Amino acid sequence: KTRVFRFGNKSADGNSKMKNLLGGKGANLAEMSSIGIPVPPGFTITTDVCTEYNLLGQEVAIDNLKLEVEESITNIESLMGARFGDMNNPLLVSVRSGARVSMPGMMDTVLNLGINDEVVVGLAKKTDNEHFAWDSYRRFIQMYGGVVLGMKPESKEHMDPFEEIMDHLKEKRGIRSDTEFSVQDLKDLVYDFKDAVKKQTGHNFPADPWEQLWGAIIAVFNSWNGERAIYYRKMHGYPEDWGTAVNVQAMVYGNMGDNSATGVCFTRDAGTGENAFNGEYLVNAQGEDVVAGIRTPQQITKLGSLRWAELARIDEDVRVKDYPSLEELMPGSYNELVGYQQILEKHYRDMQDMEFTIQDGKLWILQTRNGKRTGAAMVKIVVDLLNEGLISEEEALLRIEPNKLDELLHPIFDPEALKTANIIAQGLPASPGAATGKIVFFADEANKFKNSILVRIETSPEDLEGMNLAKGILTARGGMTSHAAVVARGMGKCCISGAGALKINYKDRTLTVGEHEYHEGDWISLNGSTGNIIEGKVATVEPELTGEFAEIMKLADKYAIMQVRTNADTPNDARIARGFGAQGIGLTRTEHMFFEVDRIKAMREMILADTVKGRKQALNGLLPMQRSDFEGIFEAMEGFPVTIRLLDPPLHEFVPHQLATQKELADEMHISLMAVKNKVAELEEFNPMLGHRGCRLGNTYPEITEMQTRAIIEATLNLKAKGIISKPEIMVPLVGTLKEFEMQEQIIRNTAKTVFEERHDTIDYLVGTMIEIPRAALVADKIAQKADFFSFGTNDLTQMTFGYSRDDAGKFLPIYIEKGILKVDPFEVLDQEGVGELIKMATERGRRVKPNLKVGICGEHGGEPSSIEFCYKTGMNYVSCSPFRVPIARLVSAQAVI
Ligand code: PEP
Ligand code: MG
Repeated sequence: KTRVFRFGNKSADGNSKMKNLLGGKGANLAEMSSIGIPVPPGFTITTDVCTEYNLLGQEVAIDNLKLEVEESITNIESLMGARFGDMNNPLLVSVRSGARVSMPGMMDTVLNLGINDEVVVGLAKKTDNEHFAWDSYRRFIQMYGGVVLGMKPESKEHMDPFEEIMDHLKEKRGIRSDTEFSVQDLKDLVYDFKDAVKKQTGHNFPADPWEQLWGAIIAVFNSWNGERAIYYRKMHGYPEDWGTAVNVQAMVYGNMGDNSATGVCFTRDAGTGENAFNGEYLVNAQGEDVVAGIRTPQQITKLGSLRWAELARIDEDVRVKDYPSLEELMPGSYNELVGYQQILEKHYRDMQDMEFTIQDGKLWILQTRNGKRTGAAMVKIVVDLLNEGLISEEEALLRIEPNKLDELLHPIFDPEALKTANIIAQGLPASPGAATGKIVFFADEANKFKNSILVRIETSPEDLEGMNLAKGILTARGGMTSHAAVVARGMGKCCISGAGALKINYKDRTLTVGEHEYHEGDWISLNGSTGNIIEGKVATVEPELTGEFAEIMKLADKYAIMQVRTNADTPNDARIARGFGAQGIGLTRTEHMFFEVDRIKAMREMILADTVKGRKQALNGLLPMQRSDFEGIFEAMEGFPVTIRLLDPPLHEFVPHQLATQKELADEMHISLMAVKNKVAELEEFNPMLGHRGCRLGNTYPEITEMQTRAIIEATLNLKAKGIISKPEIMVPLVGTLKEFEMQEQIIRNTAKTVFEERHDTIDYLVGTMIEIPRAALVADKIAQKADFFSFGTNDLTQMTFGYSRDDAGKFLPIYIEKGILKVDPFEVLDQEGVGELIKMATERGRRVKPNLKVGICGEHGGEPSSIEFCYKTGMNYVSCSPFRVPIARLVSAQAVI
């Protein structure tokens, strides 16, 4: 078995298709090398070895690996003409992790590995650059100390221990930038760094290059099971057994002087999707400097530089002198880079996120990958690539991640409210969106408030969880490619970075902008699209489906076969859903209409009535309200079918349970408190979800069904008189036997007939049922003889198939998932194996009797991608989901066909 794959010198053992084995980074390095992109030579240790390491333990795994690694180092040595650990002609390497997908939280990068007190002297002689050699050495100790040896800040109010030592020295020397350190300063730093390591870890810093290399490789394997990596995997549902690869690569240096640089670039804008090459770089710098946000990075293109200067309010002469673009400063390397970015984007047919280094005028590409992007950028890039002829329609649809569309459906700032907003500062628009929340200064306190904005000088991988919890992220330092910016875009979270006007004091927990001081808990708002930081709260409005988003949805409809309806209980919800393209309503829960103050009174009167007459009287009071509800909904649905479900919940949900409200009710109804109490006690059930609810109500109190049917039919006829078409589909809930359905159907049809006679007019309507009790699924062939349609109520069907109470499962489901008894929450993701089998069976049995039986789903699963795909496969006519999931369902419905 091959454990190590090599690349370099325009050839490679692997290729981009081998992501599972080589990880994303390794596979792309191999691919780049074989298509002629200048990549420093190196090798990739496979993800299988990581799995081996976890299974067999360190000793065996490293033993199995040793020879191949040693031989591969020899290979790099011969390609680079240098030797690992050699005092006169040393080869240094970088070590990086690389899983199938890029994963913040894993060990990132160790640069300059292979250096020690002797090698540094050789490196200085070889390059004739003592400053560079010592700078590389101090960087190595800093990175290795942090990621391999686990050096930590003293407390969360402290900075990274190495940064603290450097800041201290800067102060002492009266300098501002790392590049201003003298050779002697760097030597002192190396000494102090090693000392700090000894103090905190109790061990000497490892001087043997091979010990350093194996230490780094083991650290990468261990980082797969680090807390943050586990959290990230959970967040995205990635399995534990993928493992990570390790990439070892010859070093090239961006810190060799003023003719050297390093940077990150994107072939298109990762925030907006605009087709504009962009990125950031630093002269005389190495690797992480750009992303870490310690120095202010410069823009790659001149256009980007001009835009940046405008945002940062920097004068043109200062910009040209202190922050020139790469295009202006190193035009040769810039043009070469433009060439490679074009080749790579065409080759991968997607937006690329690339890292590069210019070593003494020679350009090297260190990494390329499909760039992380916001939901808006995802949609724009896909539509553009389609129009540019780089991808097909089918591929375009498949490239849209359903759940990422969610970002485009969140509220945006109300343009009116923005006109009067108090903008306190501006930063870089690192990740678009609108966020309002209370200030917190520490990632582990992001859940202190319901809505929080995480305000940091800069963020680091440890902040991942807090960034996810916060509504938005604001940093004082860092550019568009800073850690905060990249992670936020991946999460689709609003982020403003590099807002230099902010003074943040972690100890006092204050944010100062000019004269104003803000404290933890103060409200601020971020406009991630403009970079504006706004005092206080700003009102938001619902987003609209326009532009490229609308284009993608139109394309989805071209391919989709299964329709998408919505669950809506009000005309407003119905209108929103129509705006998102819902082709009807799959569920209107009528009980929600009874909870308003004036209505619940009539409802309670009905419940408290002891006679049919009394109940009918109370129901008569509800009729006009219910009728106008239906008119509003029908009208909003513009002639699309509307499924209305008859009353479903147990009656005790409508009566007051507190003494004070019971008294109020008794007074209002002129009855004794005792009578109210007795009724409440009478309605009490041990298992209300299995109790007197659903069609059991309509069959014991037929007058409820009568009233609701009358309201539906009258509403339809009223609209018809105004020339508005409506298509009601009356749905009976919680049916388990044919007889239950038949009785309800008869009441509905009789009532409709009576109304038709009264009005001398008729309309078409359907009477169908929910399938949400396992018995109904089993006898679906019988029920289908009478029912016009089936709608799977998978909330109840899941509850009753598993025997897990919908209301109480929260107590044990998380533990079940943690222990691996269940993979996911079955109330969220449809259990295809069990519940799905019932759905398949019921659909088959129903259609055996009635081949054209209309079948849909209206449980929560109707908006969940994997469940929607399943619904398509079982041949459903539609899924129905909440209004804001409608575009997602339309997309998945199309993807399911492709
Ligand atoms: C269901 O049970 O899936 C359903 C849609 O009905 P409810 O959630 O109202 O019980
Ligand atoms: Mg139900």
